[in-house]
Amino acid sequence: MMAAIAAIFLRNNALFCPFCRADDTKVIDSRLVAEGHQVRRRRECGACHERFTTFETAELVMPRIIKRDGSREPYNEDKLRSGLQRSLEKRPVPTEQVELLISQVESQLRATGEREVQSELLGHLIMDGLVKLDKVAYVRFASVYRSFKDIREFGEEIARLGDE
Ligand SMILES: [Zn+2]
Repeated sequence: MMAAIAAIFLRNNALFCPFCRADDTKVIDSRLVAEGHQVRRRRECGACHERFTTFETAELVMPRIIKRDGSREPYNEDKLRSGLQRSLEKRPVPTEQVELLISQVESQLRATGEREVQSELLGHLIMDGLVKLDKVAYVRFASVYRSFKDIREFGEEIARLGDE
């Protein structure tokens, strides 16, 4: 059967199967289109097993963040930007590079196809990008983010960066 290009979105990013209205849908395939501003997804309904395609915009597909204490919060671009700016204070990194890093992190979050992701994933995506951008900023960010247990662990991380 040909799949319908349709899905019903309601509040809070909830998505319902267009065939049976179940909200239990699984992402089978996910790819970025429209220069990363949209995600085309193949989904399968967990209830009736019909497959359908959705085109989801950035606002709809940005997953919520699951914090360590289990609470959820919406992804917050401003919060990410201010965290990066703190790490990059007095570092020779152009603003455009920071903005590029933010949009890369967002694309990767969208590409997961998940409605919710652990805050650890977000942290890793940021650190992966930051380590390529500026090692000092990376260490600053990582020390806050990972809250290194002791000074030795922190030293080991710096030594590891020096080896690369
Ligand atoms: Zn269904």
